[in-house]
Amino acid sequence: MLRRQIGPTLFLLLGFSAFPLWATEVAVTTKTVKACDFALNPTLAIIKRVPHPSNWKVVIVCTDMEWDRLLMLDKRIEHISNYAFTRFSPNDPTIRPVTYIRGHLFVENPPFNYRPERVLKHELGHIFCKCMNEDTASNWADQH
Ligand SMILES: [Zn+2]
Repeated sequence: MLRRQIGPTLFLLLGFSAFPLWATEVAVTTKTVKACDFALNPTLAIIKRVPHPSNWKVVIVCTDMEWDRLLMLDKRIEHISNYAFTRFSPNDPTIRPVTYIRGHLFVENPPFNYRPERVLKHELGHIFCKCMNEDTASNWADQH
């Protein structure tokens, strides 16, 4: 549903041998994968390095135009983060967690707390603690 609203999406399926039943999925919002290479390649490298749920989905919102549109679609998001947010269901592990990350982070050289790896780890912290607590999520990021 959202996919259609924020533009054409391509999917890459990444099979991880450690998790044969699930596949981590990364999506980009540009028409071609190549157009989002600047963010996709580092994201794939980060995912390989950090522990993550095997059914995790990451959507790279490649342009700020799309990011702004996404925030407008869901006003609640605006208060969560300007860099990334995650939708997950703490009580239902069968619903896959989906993290949206702003492609712009990969373009500029942001301060430590907003570097892509740190941001993704923070979002994973929320997923693993099954909580919205910012300190708990950041502590998890510190440890991984
Ligand atoms: Zn957070």
